[in-house]
Amino acid sequence: MTDIVIRTQNITKKYKNNFALNNVSINIRKGDIYGLIGKNGAGKTTLLRIISGLSILNEGKLEIFGQTSESDLNSVRSRTGCIIESPNFYPYLSARKNLEYYRIQKGIPGKECVEKALNNVGLSEIGNKKFKNYSLGMKQRLGLALAIMGNPDLLILDEPINGLDPIGIVEFREILKKLNRERNTTIIISSHILGELSQLATTYGFIDNGRLLQEITSKEIEEKCRHHLLVKVNDTAKASVVIEKELGCDDYHVLNDNQIKIYAFIDTPEIVTQALIKNNIMVSTINQCGANLEDYFVDLIGGNQNA
Ligand code: ADP
Repeated sequence: MTDIVIRTQNITKKYKNNFALNNVSINIRKGDIYGLIGKNGAGKTTLLRIISGLSILNEGKLEIFGQTSESDLNSVRSRTGCIIESPNFYPYLSARKNLEYYRIQKGIPGKECVEKALNNVGLSEIGNKKFKNYSLGMKQRLGLALAIMGNPDLLILDEPINGLDPIGIVEFREILKKLNRERNTTIIISSHILGELSQLATTYGFIDNGRLLQEITSKEIEEKCRHHLLVKVNDTAKASVVIEKELGCDDYHVLNDNQIKIYAFIDTPEIVTQALIKNNIMVSTINQCGANLEDYFVDLIGGNQNA
């Protein structure tokens, strides 16, 4: 039994001669918070629309909860909640009445799910306020309340944090983390701003120009970005002994015959150089390396960060 919730295999979507998606293959596991990151126009919405059944792929295969045929996909989509385009809430109705309207329209049984959804997004206190008087942050939360109302196993969220202030972003992230933690809801969420999804996503899919550049877990990125000294020496075996015995450090990694990563002494590389030279090891270079998540993304997409 696979724990894959969404799998796409070489999905391609063309608009006339333009590839909105080009051979995109992603894998989302149960309980993942999958951050789909890319500039505007990268193909994020197109991919999320295909997953949620709002758009049809030209080539490739889509699997959701193990189902691949069109009719099975449609039936498992009842286990999903989406924010793709902003829902049309009625401005003169309260949040509560708007949700009640959609509950009936979607055929979700049990009135209490409205209250639960409002509660989950922190709107129960102001649920009687008219939608038109809501701030952007409240409107985004109400959109999320609508998406989670049927207790979905999978949430598909297209740029739901867009336009929120920093506090709003933190609060929105916390709501999603809670849903993920308490209900094990799998979430795919897109953004063109990496920082919005850092501290939230457990896996990232980086997309550019319709192509998936990389799929990587947050742990793997952390490891790649971790600050270190990259030391080039003539003898890594001897150097390892010095690093351990003389510098008392076991947090290092030998890359090959002449390169070592040392995850200590980042601000005092001269201590490392001195110890190595004293032990007749030739040091040709020693560099401070490591990146933050933003740098990582910029490097990956080739230096054009602006979305
Ligand atoms: P993102 O969500 O990452 O900003 P989109 O998926 O909306 O990107 O768009 C990907 C590409 O597909 C863009 O070049 C966009 O112009 C094009 N595109 C999206 N929808 C349509 C459409 N309905 N007709 C023609 N081109 C489209």
